Amino acid sequence: MWEDIQVEVEKVDAGNLKTKPSSGDLGFGNYFTDHMFLMTWSKEDGWHDAKICPYQDFKMDPASMVFHYGQAIFEGLKAYRGKGDQLFLFRPADNLERMNESALRMCMPRFPVDKVLKSLKALLYLEKEWVPHADGATLYIRPTMIAAEPALGVRPAAKYHFFVILSPVGAYYAEGCSPTKIFVSDEYVRAVKGGVGKAKTGGNYAASLYMSEIAKKAGYTQVLWLDACEHKYIEEVGTSNIFFKIDDELITPPLEGTILGGITRDSVIKLAKSWGEKVVERKISIDEVIEASNAGRLQEAFGSGTAAVISPVGELFYHEKSYVINKGETGQLSARLFSELQSIQNGQQEDSFKWVVRVG
Ligand SMILES: *Cc1c(COP(=O)(O)O)cnc(C)c1O
Repeated sequence: MWEDIQVEVEKVDAGNLKTKPSSGDLGFGNYFTDHMFLMTWSKEDGWHDAKICPYQDFKMDPASMVFHYGQAIFEGLKAYRGKGDQLFLFRPADNLERMNESALRMCMPRFPVDKVLKSLKALLYLEKEWVPHADGATLYIRPTMIAAEPALGVRPAAKYHFFVILSPVGAYYAEGCSPTKIFVSDEYVRAVKGGVGKAKTGGNYAASLYMSEIAKKAGYTQVLWLDACEHKYIEEVGTSNIFFKIDDELITPPLEGTILGGITRDSVIKLAKSWGEKVVERKISIDEVIEASNAGRLQEAFGSGTAAVISPVGELFYHEKSYVINKGETGQLSARLFSELQSIQNGQQEDSFKWVVRVG
């Protein structure tokens, strides 16, 4: 059990460390660091065998339940190199709490957030040279949990692996934040009420690929998902939450089980409110957005998520028609949110919300 165990540390020999890629060709999720965090849960022993160890392959039984019934959850957060060459995390406990919520929904074991966060910080400290120095580049952190019991019955597994891997990633916007073109899906849906839309579970992303490929072939970067019942209300854009500024009001769909409660979404709401912006969480239909666009009342639209922080929407494609937003340019509020959040994450801006955690 956690109370009794030590996190073992097994380091890679100095001579066997990987060569770090140059920051110019990082991209997203292509390279992995020298070490990882790993622990196992079983019905008998709870969480055990916690260790920081060399990044390595898993040896798994082909009957492992994750391969068959998809009990798999993950998180995504970043370590930032900022002010004074310090390393910072942004609301990391919120990510781990959310992972525990996903675990509950998927009948997987919960874990002690404080202890995992401590291990994550130790791993990051060991890998600190992997946090890129280039402007905007970060170290992406991927906590994951998978069902490891070899059995074919459809039921919750009795054994799980939890691991954290780290990947240096390039600046999302090489030339600052620039607007994307979005395809509105009126046929395929991402999640249903009562389903698993609010859990960060692998199957949600597998299910989204088909529509994403259609959008890409049509020349669009992301999919805007509508609700599963009426194909009318806006839910999310790709793997980001969505905001619309209409008549000086910032509107985002409410968290009612089908969309992921983004930490960036929550930060945007709090930040915008602190600036005196009017922010509302309410249902918003695609018709309302199109109507506002036609009437010139749709001022801005943007996605929010860890990967891009703020991703302005420059164009919507719906029912064979395209709607340009803010002349296809980044809106004022989008730009302000992007730069403010980025400087908080880098420790450069006063952190009045106490969101930032220093590593080391
Ligand atoms: C991860 C994710 C988000 C964004 O969450 P953040 O905590 O802001 O990174 C939004 N939607 C989906 C579907 C996601 O998987």
